[in-house]
Amino acid sequence: MTRLLYRTARATLPVAVGGQGIELIDSEGRRYIDASGGAAVSCLGHQHPDVLAALHAQLDRLAYAHTGFFTSEPAEQLAERLVADAPPGLERVYLVSGGSEAIEAALKMARQYMVETGQPQRRHVIARRQSYHGNTLGALATGGNAGRRAAFQPLLIDTHHIDPCYAYRLREPGESEAAYAARAAQALEDRILDIGPERVMAFVAETVVGATAGAIPPVADYLKRIRAICDRYGVLLILDEVMCGMGRCGTLHACEQDGVSPDLMTIAKGLGGGYQPIGAVLLSGRIFDAFANGSGAFMHGHTYMGHPMAAAAGLAVQDILRRDGLLANVTAMGEILRQRLVERLGDTPHVGDIRGRGLFRAVELVADRTTRAPFDPSLKLHARIKHEAMARGLMVYPAGGTADGTRGDHVLLAPPFIVTPGDIDRIVDRLGDAIDAALASLP
Ligand code: PLP
Repeated sequence: MTRLLYRTARATLPVAVGGQGIELIDSEGRRYIDASGGAAVSCLGHQHPDVLAALHAQLDRLAYAHTGFFTSEPAEQLAERLVADAPPGLERVYLVSGGSEAIEAALKMARQYMVETGQPQRRHVIARRQSYHGNTLGALATGGNAGRRAAFQPLLIDTHHIDPCYAYRLREPGESEAAYAARAAQALEDRILDIGPERVMAFVAETVVGATAGAIPPVADYLKRIRAICDRYGVLLILDEVMCGMGRCGTLHACEQDGVSPDLMTIAKGLGGGYQPIGAVLLSGRIFDAFANGSGAFMHGHTYMGHPMAAAAGLAVQDILRRDGLLANVTAMGEILRQRLVERLGDTPHVGDIRGRGLFRAVELVADRTTRAPFDPSLKLHARIKHEAMARGLMVYPAGGTADGTRGDHVLLAPPFIVTPGDIDRIVDRLGDAIDAALASLP
């Protein structure tokens, strides 16, 4: 019996005892290909010797120093590295322990910026349906995943949600991509005008939607239009790249591919590759200056922010990513993954959409390919696929669809950046078999 409460109060989980490259090993000796990097975390795979060496070296020097008293070498070096490679305008780094903390901090930075610049009436946040920004109350309020929010709704601050940029479901038949980009972005301007531009603080979006609806990239020009609308009304743009960032899409930051720089950007998972809990907010010089020239402080903080071990992990992972040219591998292997998914699953009658960028890919399943109607959520197709995949030694990251038809079940793939074409063949073969078996198990 376990005394732990994880996500589910009922299931008994296998015990992970080891890892090697792209595989995890359980206490029975079974090996699992980590085709989802956990939840898009393990970008270098498991037990990478160079990360372990960097962690051992840091542990021997200094495990912890509170940031109320000291900064540390790895935290300073990591911040330098992150700013050197940041989208234009992002000049400072705030280190935290994960994605939700990063989003909370970004929201509070946006709010404090408005207060410091004499705009205290700006407190409204606009975000998107079908998004996930974390599970703490502020992040949950911002996210648009109705299922995750339901029980906690009374505790959540009001957030305005608009439709996501989700071409597979929301682009009209016959509508050009450009027309759809304009219409999807217009939803933001309309909402800003509804609320009153002088009351809006920030717009928050995942550059590429991850956990809720599965690797949905924006269509061309959507984010440029969003940037222009935010600028027009003095609204801060917060891009959440906790899942899609740090190389996952083939560029260090996903928004590079859209030619857009946010005012605040959150990063986490691939930043430390799972070797330590770490996240960060990258903030613009303008926001930093408002604090520095105003009250002199950002009124926020956590005991473990800037933790030397976490920073050392982030620094090692980021060094290896560059040293080994892994971004190029993400792009090349991502294209092979896309092709193999299309070959294996493209003709499966219940596969509606195969999409994504780099090594961030998803397969959306539908009951009816023509109408795109999702499966009845009570069938829990996504959970069946996960179960069948685990039985075949494959980790994937699936999520359920909705009864109102706004999204289908999907399976998210986010393998480590070190995968080879042979690894991809094994991943797609096992996934194809798992999906076939899960569909065959439906009543
Ligand atoms: N934002 C995005 C886009 C995420 O995908 C996640 C986690 O999946 C979070 C925020 C929250 O991160 P964490 O689970 O580290 O708190």
